[in-house]
Amino acid sequence: MCDSDYGICPYNKSHRIVLFRMPGHIIKCMRKYKGPPLIICKYNATHRMPAEQMEQHLEECADYQKFNAYENLQKALEARKSPQRA
Ligand SMILES: [Zn+2]
Ligand SMILES: [Zn+2]
Repeated sequence: MCDSDYGICPYNKSHRIVLFRMPGHIIKCMRKYKGPPLIICKYNATHRMPAEQMEQHLEECADYQKFNAYENLQKALEARKSPQRA
């Protein structure tokens, strides 16, 4: 296993969790969490952070970037399927 298979728990930075266990871990950790509320990234439910960090997060969020790439691809395909005719 390489380092990228691990993520940091959003509720406790000292929790280093194997990514495939992250969703279950987050649910358990959320119940114990007493800090300021975290909002959930629209593109990956395991990305959680205070609202003021979300904008910066989206610049780095791999899932958001994948989503954007997919959207752009769909738009490009749509444009090819239905060429604008005058
Ligand atoms: Zn945790
Ligand atoms: Zn994200």
